[in-house]
Amino acid sequence: MSGFTWERGPFTRCAKCGQTKMGILSAGGGLLTKRCTNCRRTVQLPLPELDKKAIYLDQFMFSMIYNVKNEGNLPKGHEAFAKEVYALLRRCVLLQQVFLPHSDIHHDETTVFHSPIDLRGLYKFFGGDVSVMDSRDVELLQDIQFAKAYFDGKEPEVSFDIDEIANSQRNDWLPDMHVGVRADYSQFADHIRTVRGDVHDALKKLADTWLEKKVSFAGVLESEFSAIGPTKKQAFAKWFEEVSNPDPSNPLALFESSGRPIYREYRELCHLLEDRGVDEDKQAIEIMKFWHWERQREIPHQRISSYLFAAVAGRVVMGEKRIVDRGLMNDVRTISTYAPYVDALFIDKRCAALLKEEPLRAELEYKARIFSLSDPDEFLGYLRELEAQTPDEVREYAAMIYGID
Ligand SMILES: [Zn+2]
Repeated sequence: MSGFTWERGPFTRCAKCGQTKMGILSAGGGLLTKRCTNCRRTVQLPLPELDKKAIYLDQFMFSMIYNVKNEGNLPKGHEAFAKEVYALLRRCVLLQQVFLPHSDIHHDETTVFHSPIDLRGLYKFFGGDVSVMDSRDVELLQDIQFAKAYFDGKEPEVSFDIDEIANSQRNDWLPDMHVGVRADYSQFADHIRTVRGDVHDALKKLADTWLEKKVSFAGVLESEFSAIGPTKKQAFAKWFEEVSNPDPSNPLALFESSGRPIYREYRELCHLLEDRGVDEDKQAIEIMKFWHWERQREIPHQRISSYLFAAVAGRVVMGEKRIVDRGLMNDVRTISTYAPYVDALFIDKRCAALLKEEPLRAELEYKARIFSLSDPDEFLGYLRELEAQTPDEVREYAAMIYGID
């Protein structure tokens, strides 16, 4: 067999044997490994440090990228945008300037997509393979940061550094070769569809009530805020009832109860109180007090989601009932959990419009720049800017390793 080598070009001169046979063996993490095809001399070079931007794309964008890649149908009127955004994102990811985080919300939606396995591959190979903490865990993280402040009588401190929620490899150089694991999550699809259907039905009922009562933005916002404590208390009571009276024919139900967000928060809060020397029999009372603390409404995920629901209610009252669709719940969750941490968020037009309205625009604070299909050029411009900002040294290595020009 002639011609095959593990090393690949560009080849440079080898310091040991003098031949121009020093090629790339592998890259990834923070190292480039080069080896001579002739004498096997191996050198490892440290790669420049990176500071990638986190661009969170909603599921719609990932499906679109999937369709560009697989020559499927592109959204009408946005065909040119789809192709251009695909090329630009690909370039920014390979230039090691950007990663496209994926979350549990993507995973749920992907499971009900027609080609879930291929779509998952996209997060890995196209997006730079950085997952962020599940949305529920982000909520819990913020709840606990506030609980510490409450129990210690201090000001809440919440860090919105992306490293709080992203896995630590986000600033690694991507490996030059990918070996994919094809995981099949399709058995969860029915369950996810059912849950989503239930949530949607409940939300539709809520929308009817908004319309009937002609609610105001301020009214809904206040009732969202004042419902935080009672809702948590009620969820906990429901959980407690379930585990106290387990259905003997259904052990799985009990298993499921142990992962319930409300129970996980309760348990974390018990640990905090334990650390602070609070007796076990007094912990529940302290937790209830925390759940009813006035400053719960300042917890970022609570604040953002309450504002969004109040804005949605406003639209419903104005006659725009179709704003309450199957995707709304996930959109609200995406924004309320990830917007404070990521650099950019590409979301549904409808939610992007709500965020640009007053009082949301002035009163909500989060790091992410918001993009949507309402202004596709704005997003392309942002990507071009990131592309142009790539340091020369990084650009040279990226060209060598990933073969982009
Ligand atoms: Zn050599």
